Amino acid sequence: LDLIDTQRGKFRSRRWTAEALMVAKAEGGQPKAIKNPALPEDQVGDVVWATSRDVSQAVSDAKPWQATAEERAQILRRASNLYEENFGELFAVLAREAGKTPLDGVAELREAVDFLRYYANRGLELEREARGIFACISPWNFPLAIFTGQIAAALAAGNAVVAKPAEQTPLTACVAVRLLHEAGVPTSALQLLPGLGKTVGAALVSDPRISGVCFTGSTATALSINKAMADNADPTAPLIAETGGLNAMIVDSTALPEQAVADVIASAFQSAGQRCSALRMLYLQRDVADTFLKMLYGAMDELTVGDPWRHATDVGPVIDQSAQSQILDYITDADRAGRVLKDVAAPSTGTYVKPTVIEVSGIADLTREVFGPVLHIAMFEAEELDDVVADINATGYGLTFGIHSRIDDRIEAVTRQLTVGNIYVNRNQIGAVVGSQPFGGEGLSGTGPKAGGPRYVAKFTRSEAEPVSS
Ligand code: ADP
Repeated sequence: LDLIDTQRGKFRSRRWTAEALMVAKAEGGQPKAIKNPALPEDQVGDVVWATSRDVSQAVSDAKPWQATAEERAQILRRASNLYEENFGELFAVLAREAGKTPLDGVAELREAVDFLRYYANRGLELEREARGIFACISPWNFPLAIFTGQIAAALAAGNAVVAKPAEQTPLTACVAVRLLHEAGVPTSALQLLPGLGKTVGAALVSDPRISGVCFTGSTATALSINKAMADNADPTAPLIAETGGLNAMIVDSTALPEQAVADVIASAFQSAGQRCSALRMLYLQRDVADTFLKMLYGAMDELTVGDPWRHATDVGPVIDQSAQSQILDYITDADRAGRVLKDVAAPSTGTYVKPTVIEVSGIADLTREVFGPVLHIAMFEAEELDDVVADINATGYGLTFGIHSRIDDRIEAVTRQLTVGNIYVNRNQIGAVVGSQPFGGEGLSGTGPKAGGPRYVAKFTRSEAEPVSS
């Protein structure tokens, strides 16, 4: 059953049911066209949104995965192989639906495959039982990797999953679920509900029968999910959340400038800045600022912003028009205030945003996370370093932090004081490595445990001490 034709896909079902792989029951449902952010005339596919009734039915149909841990691991490994074999289709849908460049698309596929294999193995080590039914709510910025990682962890522990992908990227989720089913995950253990966050997502997380929620998205949504779970039949039902950040990097006067510039460019502008780990706030030591900025602007002039299908492209579009106009409004305000230091050319059709550098006095000036290719810069003097660290901690977020310095004592002192989940020393501040460098934040940035880490899958189980809900 080929749901997505890579040239022009169609997806017309609201729900993947237990009875059949896919049942089109779109009575009354209006198909929603999913558009390519780079080429507005390219309609990637159609999707019919699920309703709250579908949510209730999906939760009724969900059955925890009744297979041995060894069988589950085998099936998840088979799924990882199917992901690799179907890379062409997966990349096509990632590029057309989410605007991923080849570099980003390949990295995302690798991460999804790593999650499947890693969690398959961690599932074998568990001595605790599955919790029941997990709601997995995922974002559009890693529509394959995060979506797959959440599901794989919940399934590895033997749960049933009802997954709701982001409204911007339901088609990638459809291809992924098709491959997971093809690998042998029962349809009662994995159902997909494409739908809106405020209706379908909200109905799913407030269903008292679910046994936990795995969420990645904004801090505000995580807080509302936390409230919605208050009436859950099981008061111990966990919310495992990965949320936003206001990520900073410090570049001091001993940093290697070429390396620091390359890493700032990658951290701030790769994936068009649409990574939770992306660099938002660069603190630059004043005595090297002139030289550093000249090099940075030169490197920015080399960036190609454009169609993700082209291999030369460094920065693709942002996810949709609403994201684009919010970021552009933010840049316009900064420009009016005379704070835009640098920007580079971008195509005028498609949801492109020029990579832009904005001057601020410090991280406290960042009132929210701007999820695009926008880098803020502030200067500091050596004796102000402690204040910089205090200001970063005061945001309450704590996802990623980078430092470029060749003073070991300074690196140690700064990283020891920061409350942050992932630290990057003298390298770019992007992503994580499943297994060896798990990813997750502190404070407003997440609940832990870290995704891709050894303790993650256990969070999807019930310890013997906990009561089983009735
Ligand atoms: P983003 O800024 O990444 O769009 P969101 O937190 O809005 O962040 O979205 C992340 C995921 O959460 C998406 O799948 C979205 O549909 C879903 N979502 C949004 N609002 C809610 C809600 N109230 N309850 C459950 N899920 C929601």
